[in-house]
Order: sequence, then structure tokens, then C-alpha cells
Amino acid sequence: MSNDGARRAAVLEAPAPIERRPLNIEDRPRPNPATGELLISVAACALCRTDLQICEGDLAPHKRPVVPGHQVVGRVEGVGSAVEGWKVGDRAGIGWLASSCDECELCERGLENLCPDATFTGWDRDGGYAGWVTTRADFTFHLASELDDLAAAPLLCGGVIGYRSLRLSAVQDGGKLGLFGFGASASLTIQVAIHRGMDVYVVTRSKDEQERALRLGAKWSGGFDERLPAALDGAITFAPAGAVVVAALRSLAPGGTVAINAIHLDGIPAFDYDILWRERALKSVANYTRQDAREFLELAARLPIGTEIAVMPLEQANEALGRLKSGSLKGTGVLQTNRG
Ligand SMILES: [Zn+2]
Ligand SMILES: [Zn+2]
Repeated sequence: MSNDGARRAAVLEAPAPIERRPLNIEDRPRPNPATGELLISVAACALCRTDLQICEGDLAPHKRPVVPGHQVVGRVEGVGSAVEGWKVGDRAGIGWLASSCDECELCERGLENLCPDATFTGWDRDGGYAGWVTTRADFTFHLASELDDLAAAPLLCGGVIGYRSLRLSAVQDGGKLGLFGFGASASLTIQVAIHRGMDVYVVTRSKDEQERALRLGAKWSGGFDERLPAALDGAITFAPAGAVVVAALRSLAPGGTVAINAIHLDGIPAFDYDILWRERALKSVANYTRQDAREFLELAARLPIGTEIAVMPLEQANEALGRLKSGSLKGTGVLQTNRG
């Protein structure tokens, strides 16, 4: 068991290709929760592609050094002043949105995900690749007892942002939804879509993923060169490639929307206006709101939503992100900390 004075953390000083091991594994003292904050003893932190993009510098770090990680499950170990609704021992989940201003026009319209002063876990403030993390209590989520520590971690970004993407794709219950790319987030999103009676069509290069999609209830799966058997009411792209956005747009029925679930995308190739004409739409998905997260976590506990995970110790954070990069992780990578 880690001692009470210091615990391991994976710390990014300077971005570099993950093969060069940019994360230093070091001991860090226990932080104190400030006013309005919680101190969380971390049990698990799931990997997200955004962590890799921060470690490699595709997304420039907002502070240095920084501890990455924004799909965090743990228990409350300390409660700062002026915190309501939390006590020591409560199970807690932390996601990507670390704070918003609560005052600007976007926040007031319920679009705190677009707040210009929003901060993000593992980017603007230290995240969950650590034994402890502090977090704004009002941006932390209670977790139902049905949700297991390790299995729940991938819900907190991939699950929640997939849920928002599904909402922004505007597909009605019972409608036809396309998923382009079928990694961790798509594997969670399909479960919500099928629960809502949608017909789901999955497009992915990988034969393994095509088969997994069918096992999870997809009506059809195939590669990018195959023709979909039906026009889609909406689609979500998960692959961080602009060409995939165009492929999804080509598959839409009139009036349909492509929701782009990517914080970082390479250029979108030029396309004929014909494939956008007739009120088809392209919409990027940025972050999530706390309302999205609460709704999704409640649904995830109730269904329940299954996750496939590959558990590794925190000390192997570089290796784990290397495997995420090379595509050799089976399921979502989850770093486990503070094992007894
Ligand atoms: Zn704001
Ligand atoms: Zn993420």
C-alpha cells in the first residue's frame, strides 16, 4: 500500500513521442483541497486519446509540469471548505471539464462546454495519473454503487462525450445511426443507441471491430469501401481523420447531421456541395456539460453499460499510452492506482 505522505504520479514535463517516455513516474505529496474542492484518492484512471495528444504535443500542454488523466474514479479523502453534498468516503468520478465560469453568456445558455474560461482536467490542472487528485466539488460526479471502479472509468470521457455526440447527431429513437470508427467511445455509444431502438450501422476498417459491433447489436458493419444498405438519419465520426467526415456525410439522408467526435482532426478533403445540400449538417462536438454527464452516468448504471478494459499499473503509463497509439490495447486502457 502506498504510504500516506506521498504517492506515485505520472508527470509530463515536456511533450515528446510516447516511445521516448515523456511521463516521469515520481512521488508527489498529498495535496490539500482548496475552498470548494475535494481531495480524491484515485482508484483508477482510464486512458483517452487526448492524453496521448497532450503527451506528444499535438495539444500543447496548458501548464508544465502537468499530470494527465481525465477519466478518474476514486473516493473522497478530504473535503475543502464551502463544499456541499460530499463527505469523506463517497465514490467520485472526474471527467474532462474541470471548471467553467458560470457567468458568461454561453454558460448562462447551458453551453458551459463552450465557456471561453473553461479549464480541463489533465490539461489545465493536474489529473488522475496519480494517487491523489484535487477537483472542484461542483464538477465532480457521484457514482452509483452498480458501477465498478475499473469498469466505470472509461465512461467518464468516452462514454459522456459519445452520449453528447449522439444527442447532437439528432437521430430520433428508432432512427438510423451510423458510427464511423469503433473504438472505446463508439463501443459505449452503440449501447445507448440500441437501448433507444436505433438501427446502428458501423463503418470501420478493422474486421475485429466489425465483428465486435455486430456482437453489440449493430444491424450492419463494414469497411469504408462498402456501400451502406440504408441512408442514415445521422452519424457520429470517431476516427480523427477528415476523410472519415466526408465518408459519413456521403451516407446521410437529407436533413441528417454528422457529429464529429474529435478534439483534433486532420484537414477535411474538399467535397462537392451536393453531399451537403438538402439541409445536411456538419457539427463538431466539444467537451460535455455536467448535465450530459449526470444523465449518461445514471443511464450507464441502470442499463448497465458494459466496458471492455485492459488494466495496467499506474507505473506503466508510458507503455499503456504506447499501446493505445499502436492500437494493441484490447479494450480501453485503465491505469490502476493505490492497490491494497
Ligand atoms: Zn462561462
Ligand atoms: Zn477524453
